[in-house]
Amino acid sequence: MAAKGDMIYAWTTDSEIAKKAECGGAVTALLKYALENKMVDAVLAIKKGQDVYDAVPTYITDPKDLKDTAGSLHCGSVLLSKVILKYLKGAKDKKIAVTVKGCDLMGLCELANRNEINLNNLLLIGVNCGGTVSPVKARKMIKEAFKVDPDTVHKEEIDKGQFIIEFEGGHKGISIDELENEGFGRRSNCRRCLYKVPRQADLACGNWGVIGEKAGKATFVEICSDKGSDLINKAIKSGAIGTSPAEPKGIDIRGKVEGAMLKLGQKWRKKDFTNLKNNLWETISKETSRCIKCYSCIENCPVCTTLDISENGKKSLMVDDGTIPPNPMFHMRRFAHISDSCINCGQCEELCAMDIPLALFSHAIRSESDIVFEPKLGDPVYKN
Ligand code: FAD
Ligand code: SF4
Ligand code: SF4
Ligand code: SF4
Repeated sequence: MAAKGDMIYAWTTDSEIAKKAECGGAVTALLKYALENKMVDAVLAIKKGQDVYDAVPTYITDPKDLKDTAGSLHCGSVLLSKVILKYLKGAKDKKIAVTVKGCDLMGLCELANRNEINLNNLLLIGVNCGGTVSPVKARKMIKEAFKVDPDTVHKEEIDKGQFIIEFEGGHKGISIDELENEGFGRRSNCRRCLYKVPRQADLACGNWGVIGEKAGKATFVEICSDKGSDLINKAIKSGAIGTSPAEPKGIDIRGKVEGAMLKLGQKWRKKDFTNLKNNLWETISKETSRCIKCYSCIENCPVCTTLDISENGKKSLMVDDGTIPPNPMFHMRRFAHISDSCINCGQCEELCAMDIPLALFSHAIRSESDIVFEPKLGDPVYKN
């Protein structure tokens, strides 16, 4: 019997899922099992839309549709926590299984801390995450660094430190370090991210540490909760997945890769925050002077629930209506509201109409307090 704390290799026994899956297909097989057996009412996962740059959140109630969600999209920067809050009533009336990266999970934990989401109704299947590339920048990177027409790319993956594309007529890989030195590669918040293995989920699934004959054919699963072990044990018993214990050498390799990624994240924090510190107020004031007050940064931030105090018939003491660009207090007020809870998900920056590096500012503010205070970023009141 698998138990909380175990590390296993797992793979789907469904050939259709196996064909589309990123590695072992265990994630999709487990989601399918949970839905078929009414452990959950629905699944929220990501599927490919028009092309590899189009990651679409998908709500599924028919287990047959799950095969369409298999595979990882690294050029999709959606965040699922706010989707659950906005469109699925915070999972307060339904049990939902959801695939989560570290930032999806931190957002859910922060929203649960605010009583906006019912974590007990969520079955959280975590995927390790080395980072995502912004869809628009991915197209530019493929055109300029890979010299390939982005519309001809039908598959992308990140493997052994390389970003690899398959396109009509061939495949090509370039090291992420090289791409990032040229100004391409992962989103800047992802470079600074230290949440690589989502252990606050029920399961943390990835490809690091799968070695030998299982390499590429199994998913590395760390069982992080009793809910997770219950799902694994039932899925094994039904034949939905096959498993074997993770190789000790594989566990060691996974630990080393995670450690190297954390070091890299620290390096980026130091670089980004030192550059900012040297010119803090000037940078914030220059960058935010482009603001057109579209409110996208507020709408899409998982921890900044709303600043529309006018709904209550009140006027802001700090920001006048109808002034563009808004005075710096518009931004200062927002930074203050999120200063203890920014999870560095990058949504504010990604979706800013004026490309203002908002996540850099809010992450720098939050990281400083994070050195001292508990709980750390995203830590939930609820624990596995
Ligand atoms: P599958 O059965 O193929 O299922 C994949 C699941 O991932 C599906 O539910 C799908 O909806 C979901 N998904 C796809 N794209 C996204 C997305 N952008 N955001 C949220 N969910 C998504 N593993 C590592 O060990 N090291 C890494 O560095 C690493 N980086 C990753 C980066 C990203 C952006 C993603 C999405 C995954 C990453 N993984 C990483 C996890 C790995 O790619 C596989 O998802 C994991 O091993 C499960 O494999 P599987 O065959 O069981 O998944
Ligand atoms: Fe992955 Fe972290 Fe970037 Fe989220 S912020 S996409 S968890 S690297
Ligand atoms: Fe994410 Fe930006 Fe909100 Fe921080 S401020 S949680 S990076 S959207
Ligand atoms: Fe201003 Fe950008 Fe926020 Fe829009 S998303 S309100 S332009 S900072």
